[in-house]
Amino acid sequence: MREFDCLLCQIALGDRPSQTVFKDDQVLAIRDINPQAPTHVLIFPTDHMESLNDAAHSDEAVLGKLLRIAAKVANQLQIAEEGYRVVLNTGTHGGQTVPHIHLHLLGGRAMTWPPG
Ligand code: AMP
Ligand code: ZN
Repeated sequence: MREFDCLLCQIALGDRPSQTVFKDDQVLAIRDINPQAPTHVLIFPTDHMESLNDAAHSDEAVLGKLLRIAAKVANQLQIAEEGYRVVLNTGTHGGQTVPHIHLHLLGGRAMTWPPG
């Protein structure tokens, strides 16, 4: 299901421009518009899900697939060997600003810990 006023649903529908790096019938990966690392990609299900808090048993397959696609895109964009970070912000304290679940794939520089 797609939500009319959701940014990532609009991108999935092609109603908003994006730089696609991977697409199939369930998952889309696009370049982040405000990259926090030399490589910064958002990976998300094309069907709307607000956050990890809304994940149901029936979503396990697509959520697992997001991780597999993150690894595939990391390989495709040649950051896999040096390493990368996958982040899933959830809710206000988690720093989630876009209410459609998405992984961040960050690479191309050394990450620090703990995150801010
Ligand atoms: P989060 O804060 O975890 O919800 O992540 C939302 C991400 O979406 C941020 O990194 C934004 O830079 C990114 N973003 C916002 N608008 C767009 C857009 N139109 N295209 C691509 N990325 C976007
Ligand atoms: Zn959505």
